[in-house]
Amino acid sequence: MIIQNIQFFFVDLIKENTGLHKLFLIVKRFDVAIIGAGMAGILAAIDLKNQGFDQIAVFEKADKVGGTWRENSYPGLLCDVPAHHYTYSFARNSNWSQTYASGEEIQKYFEWIYESHNLKECIQFNSEVSKLSFDGEYWTLDFLEQETVTAKIVIAATGVLHHPKIPTLTGQDEFQGKQFHSAKWDNNLPLKNLRVGVIGNGSSGIQIVSALAKEDGEVFHFQRTAQWMMPLENPSFSDEEKLAFKDPEFLAQAMDFEGYAAAVDRYSDALIDMNSEAAHEMAMYCQMNLDRVLDPQLKKLLTPDHKPLCKRLIWSSEYYDAIQKPNAHLITDPISHINRSGIVTHTEKIDLDIIAYATGFDTSMFMRPINILGLNGITLEDYWEEYPKAYYSIAMPNFPNLFMLNGPNGPVGNFSLIDIAEHQMQYIAQLIKMILQGQAKYIHPKTDATNKYEIARETAAKKTVWYLGGCNSWYLNSAGIPASWPWTYSRFVAAMQKPALDDFEVVSN
Ligand code: NAP
Repeated sequence: MIIQNIQFFFVDLIKENTGLHKLFLIVKRFDVAIIGAGMAGILAAIDLKNQGFDQIAVFEKADKVGGTWRENSYPGLLCDVPAHHYTYSFARNSNWSQTYASGEEIQKYFEWIYESHNLKECIQFNSEVSKLSFDGEYWTLDFLEQETVTAKIVIAATGVLHHPKIPTLTGQDEFQGKQFHSAKWDNNLPLKNLRVGVIGNGSSGIQIVSALAKEDGEVFHFQRTAQWMMPLENPSFSDEEKLAFKDPEFLAQAMDFEGYAAAVDRYSDALIDMNSEAAHEMAMYCQMNLDRVLDPQLKKLLTPDHKPLCKRLIWSSEYYDAIQKPNAHLITDPISHINRSGIVTHTEKIDLDIIAYATGFDTSMFMRPINILGLNGITLEDYWEEYPKAYYSIAMPNFPNLFMLNGPNGPVGNFSLIDIAEHQMQYIAQLIKMILQGQAKYIHPKTDATNKYEIARETAAKKTVWYLGGCNSWYLNSAGIPASWPWTYSRFVAAMQKPALDDFEVVSN
């Protein structure tokens, strides 16, 4: 305790007198360590700072903030959640250039948040956590390349769509052109006059192909399963509108929170009951969008054989126009192999300069590969042997004082994950307060309560369109059960208001 206090004394001294980068050279013990400086990690740091907890540190393995928006920079990258809603509630941005913002603009937003909220003083970059172990009071954090630190509480804000998945295809290594995952786009390559093959038609593949079809080159889109797409128009904001958005009341009106919540609930209705009116309505819009395709043969190839929303719904008014252009080619013959010059299907050989794998992410990773050791020798690998699970996505039995933002089986879908993380943070912050204000030494959810929750979640998940809609998708875990929140958005918001303390083991000092 004395050592800790001495350390904090030095920190304050350093903060006052020198560059804050030195802070981490001395402090080895924190109240809260946050892993990841993406959208959720930044949120946690700001929230805790605002509540007066300043012995916090964020450890980020990369060299800047932004998470998924730092990693992804492919052509056409756009967030299909309205830009004003895809912001922190405490930092709405009046300057978005379009209704739906580009990835580049969103990355700039997070960099602006980093600067404007003085996060320099608490984020340490190039710091990859390799191991977490709990000793009954503190978590020890080991890193790949720096000294160990300890913290009373750890928040894992490590993201969901973070570990690229590239299929293994015969001959892949022989390809003489460039090949990379959509999340590792090589922006040094000029796209003019190139022949690009894009494998995969999830949200990423659709956006990439829509953008590449506008270039001078040729794009070959390798589709394994056709997808439903909702139309998405993206009008720009005028300077007058941006000026008007500076007025918080006007912005709030324009954002229409009630309407937004109702729309998200309606969307949940369609997911929960695929025969609902909402589901039929969305199917109708998807069909109208598909009707833009004029060639009956092409339209047939683009017509999905599953229910809309079974896979994560894609929003695009551009794709169907793009794929009908003379320089865009839809390839539905299965890929046989790759050779030196391109991709070979069962019926043709397509020479390419670039192969882009828009083949998705390993969504079962979360904090892994961090090696996590909780109470009584239990490891995260033990606990997640079947598949990732958690109490309301935010905590796990026997991993005390370890909380997650956007953790396993939480709400994912076509709405703002920032909003979801804010609700989760307000719940977690109440538990953190109990620990830091001395009401508890550690807190973790009870095993029974967690199991009960997970059984209810899985039962409900098996009634959703993700399970019954006749498709395969990244929403399904290794047991084929949807790994998502299977109830309405309002129910999620209500659940995140206040911790149900009876469900927790609260161990006092
Ligand atoms: P994804 O939705 O998982 O799609 C992966 C695609 O790759 C699918 O079309 C899949 O085909 C195909 N694929 C995988 N392995 C293949 C193989 N061996 N051969 C041929 N095709 C293969 O991945 P994503 O497009 O990167 O999107 C992931 C998530 O990121 C989205 O669902 C969304 O949540 C998020 N995202 C959001 C936005 C946004 O606007 N907010 C933009 C981009 C991404 P099958 O369908 O046949 O499996």
